[in-house]
Formats: sequence, structure tokens, C-alpha cells
Amino acid sequence: MSSPKGRGGDWTPPLHANPPQGRGTSDEGRSRLEGGPEARSQQSEPLLEVRDLTVHHGQLRALDRVSLRVFPGEVYAIIGANGAGKSTLLRTIAGLHRPTDGAILYDGKDMTKIRPERRATGGIVMVPEGRRLFGSLTVEENLKVGATYARKGPWTIERVYEIFAWMKDRRTQRTAQLSGGEQQAVAIGRALVANPRVLLLDELSLGLAPVIVQRIYAMLPQILSTGLTVLLVEQDVSQALRVASHIQCLLEGHTTLEGRPSEVTAEQVEAAYFGLSQAAAEGSEALWHGSTPSSRAS
Ligand code: ATP
Repeated sequence: MSSPKGRGGDWTPPLHANPPQGRGTSDEGRSRLEGGPEARSQQSEPLLEVRDLTVHHGQLRALDRVSLRVFPGEVYAIIGANGAGKSTLLRTIAGLHRPTDGAILYDGKDMTKIRPERRATGGIVMVPEGRRLFGSLTVEENLKVGATYARKGPWTIERVYEIFAWMKDRRTQRTAQLSGGEQQAVAIGRALVANPRVLLLDELSLGLAPVIVQRIYAMLPQILSTGLTVLLVEQDVSQALRVASHIQCLLEGHTTLEGRPSEVTAEQVEAAYFGLSQAAAEGSEALWHGSTPSSRAS
């Protein structure tokens, strides 16, 4: 079986419990599940908070009053189909798009108007979609670029070589000669050596075989063990549900679902992802390539 996008690894329906809740593309249809930011906020303050963020690309409203709260040490995943606004959200948090409205708070401070480079040196570092390495530079030179304005912290180039064992031997190789998965690892390494507090990961799985994607995501626990917080964008829903402690689904710039993976049903995710009614999602064999909801849940 595949994810709703038909990309990436197996679709593993989450364990679930709550009865179906709302759905759809409007705020009225948004599902807010138990254990959401409100519940988490009882434990600590969010490290990163987005409040009612609206972003336009010209006339196009790419994000419409999107909010999220990411707590220290968690993996928060944004899922959604092509054009949902996922990258726009991440890029706006990194400072690469200017919002029309709303606010971005980091460690309790408003940084909506702070320049991207100051966000990066302050600890918000992005692994961009498509890796964006310097292909004519070597592996180590790319890592050094990431370390140029690094904060103090546990991550060094040597530490990156420890978690990606193959990398040290190939440190003098130009990154253009690496496979897609290897390039993705270098892009992650380049972000880590900046010693982020919040790591923004944009579509790690893009263009990679499922087995490579799984290997890359297998590194996440080691990365998190150094105290990092991760906000990731992922079209591979199964992968996102496997690694995330909290998910939010976007559809055409709106939030359609948010909650803990263990508390959302496959039908809720389908409905939120495609903008279907709950009933249509439950009865939609086509989306699951012929498998029934009950067989998926087993
Ligand atoms: P994908 O997985 O395809 O990257 P996404 O969920 O990340 O999708 P975005 O890339 O954020 O979506 O795009 C949201 C909408 O904004 C789309 O309609 C897209 O065409 C548009 N868009 C994104 N970037 C720009 C830009 N720089 N200029 C104009 N329109 C843009």
C-alpha cells in the first residue's frame, strides 16, 4: 500500500480512537484533536509559535491564518498535497517570505520581521527542498559553509561524520557526484553543524527511494538526542505519522487537521488531505488501491 500521494513507504494507519470529527477546507471544518497544542502547553512553553499566518505569492493566498505551536524536543510534521502551502510555511518561518498578516514567535519573542540570516544564527536552520548544495564543492566544503556562522553546540563536522559513517571517506568528493540520498545526508549535516535549536526539514523524501528515505529518517533519534526540535514538511504521510509527535495537515493554505498521530484515523487524514467529506474518505476504495478501511486498520 502506499501513502495517499502514492509516494514513499507503506501507509501505516495510526492507532486510533476518537470518533470521526470535523473535516473540510474551512476553519469551520478544521479538526482539533485531543492532545493538541493546548494539552502540550501544560507541560512547557512553545519554542516556536506561528499565529494566524497569512502569506501571499502575488495575488495567490498561499497560507490563510495558519497557526501552530512547536514544543521543545518534539517532531512536528506538516503534511498535505502539492501546492498545499507546506514549503511556504517553512520558508516563511525561515524568513524567506514576508507574511501579509500574523506573527512568528521564537522562544517567546516576535521575530516576524527579523532577517533570515539572523533567524539562522539565532537557531532556526532549514534543510531546503531539493537540498540546494553547492555541487562543485566537496562534501566537507559544503559542511564548512554550514558551520560558518554556527552557534555553539554539540554539532561539529566530526560529529556529522560519526552519524553518517560513509561521509568521512568521501569528504573530498564533489557533492554533484553523490546520489540523491547522499546529498540529502550532506544537506542535513550542513544544517546540523550550524547547531540549530529548531531544524526545519522540507520534503526530505523528495525524489528518493523509500528505502533511502527510511534510512535518513532512522537518523532522527540521534539528531533529537542532542536536544533539537524538528518541524518537518512531508508529502509521505506514512513517514510523517511514524516520526512525528504532532501533525498538521494543510489543504490549499488552510489547516484541515491537527493532532497527535495516535489520535487521528486514516479516514480523518484522507479527508483532510484531499478535502473530502469524512463519508467519502471512508468509502473511497480508490484512494487505498482497493484495500478497505478495516483491512488497513488491522
Ligand atoms: P509542493 O509539495 O508542491 O512543494 P507545497 O505544499 O510545499 O507543495 P507551496 O510550494 O508552499 O506548496 O506552494 C503553495 C502555493 O503557492 C502553490 O499554489 C504554489 O504554486 C504557490 N507558490 C509557491 N511559491 C511561489 C512563488 N515563489 N511565487 C508564486 N507562487 C508560489
